Amino acid sequence: MRVGVPQEVAPGECRVALVPETVSRLGEGVTVVVAAGAGVAAGFPDEAYREAGAELGDPWAADVVVKVAAPSAEEAARLRSGQVLVAFLAPLTDRAGVERLAAAGVHGLALESIPRITRAQPMDALSSQATVAGYKAALIAADRLPRFLPMLMTAAGTIPPAKVLVLGAGVAGLQAIATARRLGAVVSSFDVRPAVKEQVESLGATFLDLGIHGEETEGGYARELTAEQQAAQQAELQTRIPQFDAVITTAAIPGRPAPKLITAEAVSAMRPGSVVVDLAAETGGNCELTQPGREVVEGGVTIVGTTNLPSTMATHASQLLSRNMAAILGLLVKDGELVLDWDDEIVAGACVTREQVAA
Ligand code: NAD
Repeated sequence: MRVGVPQEVAPGECRVALVPETVSRLGEGVTVVVAAGAGVAAGFPDEAYREAGAELGDPWAADVVVKVAAPSAEEAARLRSGQVLVAFLAPLTDRAGVERLAAAGVHGLALESIPRITRAQPMDALSSQATVAGYKAALIAADRLPRFLPMLMTAAGTIPPAKVLVLGAGVAGLQAIATARRLGAVVSSFDVRPAVKEQVESLGATFLDLGIHGEETEGGYARELTAEQQAAQQAELQTRIPQFDAVITTAAIPGRPAPKLITAEAVSAMRPGSVVVDLAAETGGNCELTQPGREVVEGGVTIVGTTNLPSTMATHASQLLSRNMAAILGLLVKDGELVLDWDDEIVAGACVTREQVAA
């Protein structure tokens, strides 16, 4: 079986879907074909792939193509019927992209659609990349703040620790909490899923009780709040937010625009020099003033809307993603042959488009 690794073409995308370390572990019968230069932006030169046993060549002719971002129209035109594609296909939001794959007869396996069951944990690319994003968000907050994060006792007197609020305590939020805590900040957090309180507290942060209790779906995701609940959350946050030096927001509902948690009015109540790092920028932002892909200053408050934070740490983000990919490939290969087992709930769950074979 041949596995192709194209060069990513989306602007600003530095990650690569397979790194050399994983190539050498894919086992007998699997040949990896990497596009020349595909790993360079993530710190993996062609030579490292060759040493790991990969071929350099045309990845699009392979049986399985592994990618980070969904293919562009030009890339999709290179795929053929019956081929398998594994990538972040944005199945809930990129309808045109998914239809393109369906029309081409490609077996599209979306990383976002892998069921979040225990057996699939090593394949959970949403979690691996959210871990990177949460860590980086805390570092960005620390970097943009004109203050120390830890308490400092110096000959010139004592500096109190910074106060950080993390909104949304899923995978990214919990990593942001842990990182901000390691840097010495005093951290509080809020999430609409009640189950999260214990996880927040186990990291040494305080769970902020906003009086809003949302629901959790079977998959562990939050349900969207009602308009009344959302308004109550905004109002409650507005009174609390001025106490914090930095706010990191990670709130998301799969397939929906990011919930607006921080109004423009709430930002105007923050002290000058405060920072908002909005991890939900890609889906519209948790803060009304976020500009996706940009960093802006409003009334002295820095609002960071940088998108694709995992790409800014492309080496480790790719390494983790590559291990997720290896676990997925492990499901698709039997004795060196590609075998799609539609009775496997992970394969069936991840599949968003499928080759139509005439009866
Ligand atoms: P996500 O990225 O979809 O959302 C991030 C967080 O935002 C979630 O915790 C959600 O509850 C929160 N949120 C949504 N609306 C909000 C609002 N209005 N205010 C505040 N917070 C809001 O979620 P995720 O991090 O990918 O995953 C969420 C959960 O899924 C995990 O914490 C876990 O419980 C579960 N999960 C399970 C597995 C598994 O293998 N069993 C793996 C990964 C995640």
